Amino acid sequence: MRILVIEDEHRIANSIKKGLEQETYAADVAYDGESGLDLAATEDYDLIILDRLLPGMDGVEICRKIRLEKIHTPVIMLTAKDQLQDKVDGLDSGADDYLVKPFAFAELLARIRALKRRPKTVIGEVLKIADLQINTRTFEVKRNQKIINLSQKELAILEYLMRHPHITLSKDQIIAHVWDYDADILPNTLEVFIKKLRQKIDKPFPKKQSLIQTVRGFGYKISDKT
Ligand code: CA
Repeated sequence: MRILVIEDEHRIANSIKKGLEQETYAADVAYDGESGLDLAATEDYDLIILDRLLPGMDGVEICRKIRLEKIHTPVIMLTAKDQLQDKVDGLDSGADDYLVKPFAFAELLARIRALKRRPKTVIGEVLKIADLQINTRTFEVKRNQKIINLSQKELAILEYLMRHPHITLSKDQIIAHVWDYDADILPNTLEVFIKKLRQKIDKPFPKKQSLIQTVRGFGYKISDKT
């Protein structure tokens, strides 16, 4: 596991590097945004630890550029203040997690382990099945290069199905995931939403395989296999 640390404060950067190496991770350090972005774009890292406050190009800008380059390496952003807006900006720019300074090194290690456990498809921005894709950050949905507009609930159902491709999910599972605990949703309501989803995802493409499949008496799955 090779980790890139982008942090301008030498003391912090070096202590992170030392700590990571003690855990047998390989670690490179960049002390400014430009060289950090350069390394992220040219070398193959498993994880990037990115300070938010950097001279010149800040962490949010770097993260945006990394994602624009289609680099899906998980990013943990370090923020100085425990400010909601800082977290929102960090996550919106494409970071996967954040940690407020000062932090305990054990917590950083725990977050690294948690990101390592996440399957690549979850970390990546775009979930795909056949010619259907959903960007999990912008929620843009496309099939056969055509943009499809979905309501919030339709998106949530589709994303949940696409995170579990080829696996049948029960109606109860889908309802529990998409609606909050207090919502009193009956299976009939879900059926209505699935019908609407089909009209947008499958019906406009009659020559293509229907992706949303009913498993009678149980639930639904998304799959391009019959
Ligand atoms: Ca800094």
